[in-house]
Amino acid sequence: MKILSKCHRINNYYQLLDIAMAKLPIRQLPDPVLRQQAQEITEINGELQRLIDDMAETMYAAPGLGLAAPQVGVLQRLIVLDVAHREGAKDLRVILNPCIKSGEGEAVREEGCLSVADFSAEVRRHARVTVTGVDREGKPLTISGEGLLAVVLQHEIDHLDGVLFIDHIGRLKRGLYLRRLKKQLAAKG
Ligand SMILES: [Zn+2]
Repeated sequence: MKILSKCHRINNYYQLLDIAMAKLPIRQLPDPVLRQQAQEITEINGELQRLIDDMAETMYAAPGLGLAAPQVGVLQRLIVLDVAHREGAKDLRVILNPCIKSGEGEAVREEGCLSVADFSAEVRRHARVTVTGVDREGKPLTISGEGLLAVVLQHEIDHLDGVLFIDHIGRLKRGLYLRRLKKQLAAKG
């Protein structure tokens, strides 16, 4: 999920931290990888740890509030998020095989996505969710959240099933955006 308000100060702060990790290219709509189902993670190894670090680096650099593995072309059930870093804090959360156990209430919030260029729209989702999964050490975890955290959790978990936030908006609005995107891509050649 993309940060909709700009924050150059934090941007620069994370540029200073750009040490050994690598920024990965973020796949953009209409890349078909964004529409595929990601697979459960069954083994935690060095390669996966590296991917987690690189995804976190990529998210902070973008800057974004969350990133799902399919957005960097990896079809594994892994998300990273940090809804605190807009305020200058750091609260990185890494969830392997996340699953929404319960959701309640309704909330509408404007969303954007690092994989959906130049577009944001209001999306209706659960106001509160409880998500279970596994942390990067393989320990089971449960996260209950509301507000922005609930939105980002639902948005990122959607990515693991090939679902984008534009799938939750009206067909007319989505159609207009997709036609505009098509024109832009055609103009670029
Ligand atoms: Zn997204």
